[in-house]
Amino acid sequence: MTRLQSHYEDTPVNDTRSGYCESCGQEVEFTYLGAQRWPQRLVELTGVPPVTYLWVCGCCSTTTSIPKVDL
Ligand SMILES: [Zn+2]
Repeated sequence: MTRLQSHYEDTPVNDTRSGYCESCGQEVEFTYLGAQRWPQRLVELTGVPPVTYLWVCGCCSTTTSIPKVDL
């Protein structure tokens, strides 16, 4: 089993990024919450990304998941 996602695991907590929040409908600052991992079996069955990255909107506190972090 390869560890291609390994460098994403080093994403520092409290990292922030700006982006569009669908709840607010505007450009906001997101704070990195952490990575959510799915079991390999579930990934193969449903096709979900192995790792989902959770971000919190600094405006409305909505949690949003981003499959891949592109900074
Ligand atoms: Zn928001």
